[in-house]
Amino acid sequence: MRVVTLIPGDGIGPEITEAVKSIFEAAQVPVQWEEENAGQTTFDSKGELIPQSLIDSLERNRVGLKGPITTPVGKGFKSINVQLRQKFDLYQNVRPACTTPGIQTKFEGVDLVLFRENTEGLYSGLETYDERLGIADSTNRITVAGCEKITRAAFAYARKHGRKKVTVVHKANILKMAGTLMLNAAKKAQAEFPEIEMDDKIIDNMCMQLVIKPEQFDVVVTSNLFGDILSDICAGLVGGLGVVSGANIGDDMAIFEAVHGSAPDIAGQGKANPTAMLRSGIMMLHHLDMHHHATRITNALNKTLLNKEQCTGDLGGKAKTMEFADHIIRNL
Ligand code: ATP
Ligand code: MG
Repeated sequence: MRVVTLIPGDGIGPEITEAVKSIFEAAQVPVQWEEENAGQTTFDSKGELIPQSLIDSLERNRVGLKGPITTPVGKGFKSINVQLRQKFDLYQNVRPACTTPGIQTKFEGVDLVLFRENTEGLYSGLETYDERLGIADSTNRITVAGCEKITRAAFAYARKHGRKKVTVVHKANILKMAGTLMLNAAKKAQAEFPEIEMDDKIIDNMCMQLVIKPEQFDVVVTSNLFGDILSDICAGLVGGLGVVSGANIGDDMAIFEAVHGSAPDIAGQGKANPTAMLRSGIMMLHHLDMHHHATRITNALNKTLLNKEQCTGDLGGKAKTMEFADHIIRNL
């Protein structure tokens, strides 16, 4: 048994977590959950946004599966997701987007993996506001080390998974300093992986290309803010936020999580699609070298997705979260 930290999160988090737990249990996955929470839920009960017990658990287990966490709105509350990523230096945010048979989309043949730098850029948390002058500064801090780590990770992933090309997305024509660092780091990384092709796109053109000819992209690497936005475009290309997974990866820790937020508009109604969280769990199983279990659950999920009636509302079906999970279990 491998012990893993499980963070149900807020909003639809607990509902989709329940679904994933039941599927893993039915598939007899040798994972034991150590449940901890963070965010609004623990703030209300314990007065802490990120309890020490959660930090301890992650430090012990080095692997976590996390639901969406809401950061209370207001001064002094730094995003919990960002804090966790920075605290454990989870510098890679890896988000695959792949067309799946059964999920209706405008495009066919999308199969890309987005690498988003996860700890720097406009998410560094370096912000000031001069009330007198009415001027806000949000610092876009980029480091050579940060750019080198994320671009190298993208090339290493491409090699490991037999992918052919890495596209670097930037805005070096305007953000001369920050953009150029990322571009230079990518060139340096590519020298180590000569069999992998490299090209680059300016962020605005990238957005257009993605909604014209998304099948041209393979591995994509970019900075924190651009990656945040691109990943929602990519989600839209393959069926929406309910179906795309992600991983926050550092050198010795990984936290897997759905790309979507807490979806307060549908929370507590049993309507949420658990696919995003389940696919994040499947990524986690691959990370733990439990490939056999990962493949078995993927096959059951894909079979279920072919029957729209058995899916949740966002995919055009009528099933509730747990009904969808039960169909997946029957297809195991
Ligand atoms: P947050 O501030 O926590 O990111 P948000 O308001 O940005 O929350 P998201 O959670 O990102 O909202 O969701 C955006 C939209 O996508 C919402 O309309 C939501 O209902 C929908 N959505 C997100 N996740 C799912 C899911 N798993 N199943 C179905 N619909 C979802
Ligand atoms: Mg959101």
